[in-house]
Amino acid sequence: MRLCRFDDGRLGVLEGEVIHDVTGALDVLPPCAYPLPQGDPLIANLPAVRERVAALRGGSSHCPLSQVKLLSPVASPGKIVAAPVNYRRHLEEARADAQLNYDKAIDDIQRTGLFLKATSSLVGAGEGVRLWHRDRRNDHEIELVAVIGRVGRDIPRARALEYVAGYSIGLDMTLRGPEERSLRKSADTFSVLGPCLVTAEEIVNPAGLNLRLSVNGQPRQAANTRDLLLGVPELIAFASSFYTLYAGDLLFTGTPEGVGPVVPGDEIVAEMDRIGRMAVRVR
Ligand code: MN
Repeated sequence: MRLCRFDDGRLGVLEGEVIHDVTGALDVLPPCAYPLPQGDPLIANLPAVRERVAALRGGSSHCPLSQVKLLSPVASPGKIVAAPVNYRRHLEEARADAQLNYDKAIDDIQRTGLFLKATSSLVGAGEGVRLWHRDRRNDHEIELVAVIGRVGRDIPRARALEYVAGYSIGLDMTLRGPEERSLRKSADTFSVLGPCLVTAEEIVNPAGLNLRLSVNGQPRQAANTRDLLLGVPELIAFASSFYTLYAGDLLFTGTPEGVGPVVPGDEIVAEMDRIGRMAVRVR
């Protein structure tokens, strides 16, 4: 199932280029009282939501995808976890060089670990990216994002995918400079998620997905998630050895080579096998 959020907070099922409006399924969510529960309520109640979505789908109104404003498919993640550069260099490079880069990259990941992006940076494809420090370089990073489906701590690698609700495409926008990553990557609109949440049963193995990003039609990044140094299971095991993961937490898995600058007026197009395509305006 491909769930999306659009316009003023409506819930949709994406089928091809058509969105079916199933906003009524949000009625199954339990009312919230203070203190708010940890995690994103929709993802925490996803089985019940999906059941209601399936019931509403037949009688739902629909509209073309091109006519809506896409929001982040996850509205309220408790945290946005992100990996630093996490891809093997392309295969055409010399084996010795690849081994060197592999060791260096693993070393980088071990040293950096994972970092967090502010949840207030999260937007959907239709909201676009705004650059706040135009005198400095601002880069795109396309990444596979795993959406955590249920609470877990010290999750073993072999069971990690059982904790994934689904997958989306992410843009980890980055201001270049000397400050901590958590500051440079947390500006408003600097985490883009979309176009939809593809539930996990449609992507049994998140390794093997081609991804590509272009700016104004010019190719910038192209890779396959099989070349992730630490794959989704390893990242979940690593992250959950430090902190509890909650339903709706987002795991940005790192970007391949080819990051480059964007400026106001650019259009970023990000695509990934089995997930889809999203166009994101930069302003
Ligand atoms: Mn990144």
